[in-house]
Amino acid sequence: MGLAVLCAGLLVALVLLHLGWRRRYRELRQIHEQTVQRWARSHTEFVQEAQTRLTAVLNTLAEGILLLDEHHRVLLANPAFRSLFQPPAAPEGQPLLAALRWHELDELSRALSPEQPALTRELAWSGPPERWLRVSAAALFDAAGKRLHTILVFSDLTRLKQLERVRQEFVANVSHELRTPLSHIKGYVETLLTGAASDPALQQRCLQTIARNANRLELLIEDLLTLAELESGQVALQPRPISLPDFVGKILQDFQPRASARQIQLESQVPPLRVRADPLRLEQVLANLLDNAIKYGRQGGHVWVRARTSSDEWVEVAVADDGPGLPPEACERVFERFYRVDKARSREQGGTGLGLAIVKHIVQRHGGRVWVESQPGRGATFYFTLPSAPEPAVAVTESPAVAAAPSAASKVAGNGGLSGGDTRE
Ligand code: ADP
Repeated sequence: MGLAVLCAGLLVALVLLHLGWRRRYRELRQIHEQTVQRWARSHTEFVQEAQTRLTAVLNTLAEGILLLDEHHRVLLANPAFRSLFQPPAAPEGQPLLAALRWHELDELSRALSPEQPALTRELAWSGPPERWLRVSAAALFDAAGKRLHTILVFSDLTRLKQLERVRQEFVANVSHELRTPLSHIKGYVETLLTGAASDPALQQRCLQTIARNANRLELLIEDLLTLAELESGQVALQPRPISLPDFVGKILQDFQPRASARQIQLESQVPPLRVRADPLRLEQVLANLLDNAIKYGRQGGHVWVRARTSSDEWVEVAVADDGPGLPPEACERVFERFYRVDKARSREQGGTGLGLAIVKHIVQRHGGRVWVESQPGRGATFYFTLPSAPEPAVAVTESPAVAAAPSAASKVAGNGGLSGGDTRE
């Protein structure tokens, strides 16, 4: 009996222990599941956050990025890559060669090996659009030397290459322009040294040619220095209000003898407008345009200077002639340094090929625009815009008659000379 009670008690104790352990086990499992879930959630969040960050970096990079898998198929391409190789392709999933059809790039990527896991080359992409690119390629290999991933980074060198080409062309042009008058000078000096001294007529001709070419060299160097000064941006403009009709009138007076030599009539159609400009620079602009209009215009023809208000803040000035004008393709290029429609004619007229480039720089430094409109055989009109200057404030006086006539006061001539602006503001 006692044994039966002991056994029953033991059994009950065992059952209770079991139930206790089962509850504890459930609690522990629950805790474990919650921990696993929390860990999984934070891992997913971590991965998502890392992915968002990576995407943000790839999207903002100026360099094009291409990630390839072990079979040279594109895994990822960032927006900069797509904009480099317009029209934007969808290269993901395609083999590199099929995606771009660019053999040199494919060769560069395949040239990577465990011994040489990174390479950089400058490659030309035939376009469209045509580009120069620096491509840096790097590959990841496993311990057995099997390629896992390849990354290609594209930096656009097109702008740099273009600037380099412009610089080289400029140096070549300058050398050519300097060499021509210099070789003339040398040639005639030699003629003088080898006997022309005894022939006064020949001597005179030689000296005249030497003087003309020396002049040409001087003009060229002056224009080059002006351009360099303007391009450096180091020379500050000294803008002030200028009364346009007076300013134009005085320049036209200076050009009268040259115009008369070609029987060209100069006309000013400039209303009483005021611009805010550096007087010395504005004089250079008008002088270059008038010089061209007289030089390239029709003998016995007309040259006009016109002006109008183009908006509240801008005045548009035009210099027009009724000469042979310019072909359409030249209208786009005349403001380039050394561009000439007819090289021989320009040189014969003493042109340096830099006048319109100087005009463009000066106008742009004032914040304005410059352009040309022309139809071959029907003259050319060169336009430029300058900021308008406000009418001078009218002082309050005792006489109502004076106060009532502000615009008349503003129309009075302003500057005393070409290099002096209208100082009233
Ligand atoms: P250049 O010293 O040769 O005159 P510019 O830069 O002033 O150099 O002008 C560039 C070229 O633009 C000239 O060589 C000429 O061919 C053309 N050009 C400029 N102005 C006119 C014009 N009014 N009519 C026709 N062609 C012009």
